[in-house]
Amino acid sequence: MTVITRFAPSPTGYLHIGSARTALFNLLYARHHGGKFLLRIEDTDRARSTQEAVETIFNSLKWLGIDWDEEPVFQFSRAERHAQVAHTLLEKGLAYKCYCTPEELEQMREHARENGLPPRYNGLWRDKDPTMAPEGVKPTIRLKAPRTGETSIDDQVQGRVTIRNEELDDMVLLRADGTPTYMLSVVVDDHDMNISHIIRGDDHLTNAFRQYHIYAAMEWEVPIFAHIPLIHGADGAKLSKRHGALAADAYKDMGFLPQALCNYLLRLGWGHGDEEIISRMQAIEWFDLDGVGKSPSRLDMAKLTHLNAHYMKEMPAADLLEALLPFFAAPLSEKASERVRRGLDGLKVRAKNLLELRDSALFYTQERPLSLNEGAQKILNDMPSPTLLKDLHDLFAALPEWSQAPLEAASKTFSETAGLKLGQIAQPLRACLTGSNISPGVFEVMEILGKDESLLRLSDFIP
Ligand code: GLU
Repeated sequence: MTVITRFAPSPTGYLHIGSARTALFNLLYARHHGGKFLLRIEDTDRARSTQEAVETIFNSLKWLGIDWDEEPVFQFSRAERHAQVAHTLLEKGLAYKCYCTPEELEQMREHARENGLPPRYNGLWRDKDPTMAPEGVKPTIRLKAPRTGETSIDDQVQGRVTIRNEELDDMVLLRADGTPTYMLSVVVDDHDMNISHIIRGDDHLTNAFRQYHIYAAMEWEVPIFAHIPLIHGADGAKLSKRHGALAADAYKDMGFLPQALCNYLLRLGWGHGDEEIISRMQAIEWFDLDGVGKSPSRLDMAKLTHLNAHYMKEMPAADLLEALLPFFAAPLSEKASERVRRGLDGLKVRAKNLLELRDSALFYTQERPLSLNEGAQKILNDMPSPTLLKDLHDLFAALPEWSQAPLEAASKTFSETAGLKLGQIAQPLRACLTGSNISPGVFEVMEILGKDESLLRLSDFIP
């Protein structure tokens, strides 16, 4: 069988972090089996769907490296085809016209409520003679769902799930205004797109039973279902804003790398032994539905942060720089960005996300004179000798070679002669060169800033 999976978001807002994981699982499953991964935009809710949301979803998916095959399908554009299927079912006698008014339906629900029953359509027009149709009322088209027996689905994650058919009612396929319902559109699209596996959140499990009967009525092959448990908050409750950001984009803005977020989402609800760090290539090789857990997973920001720090450390400087550059308020000059690139190795060991990395790299990009933070100011106030900065400036100015080793060697000799510890001169240097009391090794910083800039930054603080 050719594996074809799909991701079918409704474009009513951002890409939810849970949906991002669903998309990732669909992508990995398709790639693992050498199949296709398709994208379908479920934009049938015209009031809530926006072009902006479509763009946001595309961008978030691209950012995460979740690349789909073929052109995305827009569900609304296929409404005629969906309606056609409803009419086919009508002709086959497997669907019927229902002329109930909204008031009648409300009465039905009321009656069910009073009797402690679930609010279902009672099948009023199922066997009614169509010639009884009231004048001027446009009918809906409803599916004749089976009334007895059971329906079972062999879900690849949930196992075999069975419901009694009494629990299903005759759902609407086509509304009175001729528009298809979500349930019908999904089935027709999945069939027409040759979807072999439907991998989605388990909030859709009950829909699967209803959808099953549309496939059955059309004598279409039913795809394989895999309903994955949802992501919960750290406290086990349904994921909500108070647990952390819900939009994939927000994680981008918080400075997480897409590789780290994907790795994290993959491990959230899927496992392969004890493996924690899993590259995309490795994920494609290993991913299967057997590894998907049955219970909801919990969002753990500390774990994500830890993974992110790991990916930042492992990333080649050029790639990390590319990820980092958009976080600066203004585009960097070539000189500044080259300094940052060279400084990344020293900076990234201290940063857990791109925001922290950006903040720690700012001194490489700033024009002198630098402003000092509190710690740096204190260091310069407490210097061991009033001429220290001038002495160091002159010492460095006379050096024939400007790189870490000779800078450090000269500083050591100087400190020994002056009876100081190396730290007593490194800290004032750091304060002048970076404006801060914390930075990568100061000789590394000097090498990267270069001779002229380093000496000028020192001069700025010589009284
Ligand atoms: N459009 C649905 C949603 O965003 C997904 C439907 C499906 O995957 O079958 O929840």
